[in-house]
Amino acid sequence: MSNSSQHSEFNNPKIKPLFDQQTIEKRVKELGQQITRDYVGHDLVLICVLKGACIFMSDLIRAIDLPVAIEFIAVSSYGASSKSSGEVRIMKDSDMSLKNKDVLIVEDIVDTGLTLSYLQDMFRRREANSVAVAACFDKPERRLKAVDVAYTGFVIPNAFVVGYGLDYAGRYRNLPFVGILEDLQE
Ligand code: 5GP
Repeated sequence: MSNSSQHSEFNNPKIKPLFDQQTIEKRVKELGQQITRDYVGHDLVLICVLKGACIFMSDLIRAIDLPVAIEFIAVSSYGASSKSSGEVRIMKDSDMSLKNKDVLIVEDIVDTGLTLSYLQDMFRRREANSVAVAACFDKPERRLKAVDVAYTGFVIPNAFVVGYGLDYAGRYRNLPFVGILEDLQE
């Protein structure tokens, strides 16, 4: 197997770096500390929205110094396109009772807000004590539906980003940094 930088996924010239690994790590630790302060004495369940939030989730839970339960749900994504269909479909649901729990939805990025507003309503109907959102990235310029994001890692410009869990057509989730994917084929 070649290890040449010509074939490196981490040095792809189409990806313009936005936040490096250290910057993300520092910010996620801060969010974890904030969540720790806010949820002392609560019955906290973090619900990771697959697949994009898996990296953020695994870093975030290790920065929360409280007893936490974790759950995973999967919703329909953009598929191989970079545009939202606006349609939310649950592909895998949480199997835990959320009654009286303090739910924190862990999402990779908020764009139009359609996914999160749908999920917030869904978990509220399940009689959670509270439903809040932690999102690693936020693109407020693109919002179609207002969502209250209690914990935001980084506000970013209106561009398509990849890395740190975020993909394009299934690729780039493993990049330890986040960057703007240029020359998008839509
Ligand atoms: P929303 O429902 O807020 O429009 O979309 C949320 C989902 O769209 C995110 O969880 C993510 O999967 C996807 N998404 C939105 N913006 C981006 C982006 O810039 N890059 C990537 N890779 N996915 C995005």
